Amino acid sequence: MISLYSTRIAQYLAAALLLLLASSAQAGLWPQEERVPGGIALLEIPQRSAAAPHVYFNERRVYTHQRDGRWYAWVGIPLSQTPGATQALWRTRDGDIALPFVVADKAYPTQRLTVAPRHVDLSAEDLARVQRETPELRGAMDDFHPVRIALPEQVTLPLEGRRTSPFGFRREFNGQARNPHNGLDIAAPTGTPILAALPGRVVAQADYFFNGKTVVLDHGLGFTSLYCHMSQFTDLQIGDRVEAGQVIGYVGSTGRSTGPHLHWTISLNGARVDPDLFLTEQQR
Ligand SMILES: [Zn+2]
Repeated sequence: MISLYSTRIAQYLAAALLLLLASSAQAGLWPQEERVPGGIALLEIPQRSAAAPHVYFNERRVYTHQRDGRWYAWVGIPLSQTPGATQALWRTRDGDIALPFVVADKAYPTQRLTVAPRHVDLSAEDLARVQRETPELRGAMDDFHPVRIALPEQVTLPLEGRRTSPFGFRREFNGQARNPHNGLDIAAPTGTPILAALPGRVVAQADYFFNGKTVVLDHGLGFTSLYCHMSQFTDLQIGDRVEAGQVIGYVGSTGRSTGPHLHWTISLNGARVDPDLFLTEQQR
């Protein structure tokens, strides 16, 4: 009898262990945390209900994710964030609860680039175009759509190729300081297919002055990705659903670009964050 029981117990334990492994394997996408400008703070929210908590940072709604029955806020920290103590706010029925955290400094190197003068000293016409396009593109990147899209365990690398410009570099174009690099550049021959990093919906597809032919994907709850400088679009239309790994365009050098490459940006709560935080060691 004893041996029968111990066999049963062993079977039970094995089954429980398998369940545990299975549930941890189904935890979903999980970025690497880095509490710096351009990084991500993963904050646990002590809410036990199944309903997603409402969390805000810099007055923007934050992406939330449930893992092992616990809720987490993925707070995107903008490159413009001043290092030091800050807080996100958890909105509850009894009022806002502060979720304090500290942003460490990060020194990003400076990169000097030479491009067509047209893309540095803008004509009145080009300036007017940029002023029209900027709010459109920001809206596509930053608008919070309260839709939860099931995300896979891993991000699909949109393009295999040589990395030409990392995230966060301070930039000078033709000797003039411009905004820091808010994405990751990967070079590949013109026409190479570009893949959707995650499932989502097409929320912008247009030819912009700086970004060239560009697609923006919405992954729900303020999580978006941007793909720029394409030579060609696909048959996709704004509003279409895409799967991870689906071809969404082809490498090019349209817009302010020094050669055929993909500029890839990931954004959380309106903050551009380092795409490397979503990639595995092998993908980097
Ligand atoms: Zn770039």
